[in-house]
Amino acid sequence: MPDSMTEAHFATLIYRAPLLTRGLRAINADLAEECGKIRDFDVPGQRWSKDNYPGGYTSYGSMDRLHRFSSTFDTLRRRIDRHVARYADALEWDVTPDQLAMTDCWINLMPRGCAHSFHVHPQSVISGTYYVQTPRGASPITFEDPRLTKMMAAPRRRAEAVQRSHVRLKPRAGDVLLFESWLRHEVPPSRIDALRISVSFNYHLR
Ligand code: FE
Repeated sequence: MPDSMTEAHFATLIYRAPLLTRGLRAINADLAEECGKIRDFDVPGQRWSKDNYPGGYTSYGSMDRLHRFSSTFDTLRRRIDRHVARYADALEWDVTPDQLAMTDCWINLMPRGCAHSFHVHPQSVISGTYYVQTPRGASPITFEDPRLTKMMAAPRRRAEAVQRSHVRLKPRAGDVLLFESWLRHEVPPSRIDALRISVSFNYHLR
């Protein structure tokens, strides 16, 4: 038999890194406090969440440009920008960092039972989440293999397979997670009382 080699192509890149190398505990304490204040103050968002985010609170339907509203979130935006530039470089995109701009930024407070089913982030190029509070037992984020709809007759994989149709990541508080906006993902229902707090965002190409 001739020599053969299997190569991986068309990789889907998901970026994960701590926001900063130090000081995350204080940053997250400030963010958690501000997130609680926004939730208490944002009555339209509470109403929106009742219909669209059962059990939890998100500012997605009411205050979705928090980086324009609060200096705390604008500082966070500046720090995330650096990670987005690194991710775009890993994706080998022919763009300069200033062409990538945060357009949307909103918060998510998930108590027990709260979930966010599979979705994409239309009209953006890079999306992601910064994790403010991830108590023990907090839900992961699950990504779906983007080729899944094409696998009509693909056999099941072995139980121990590394390649899977769904990948569950458990980020830690202080982590930035980035993915291309077309990649489907979900947050399964929380099974704990303690709040999982995150900041989600989109980047557009200028
Ligand atoms: Fe999302």
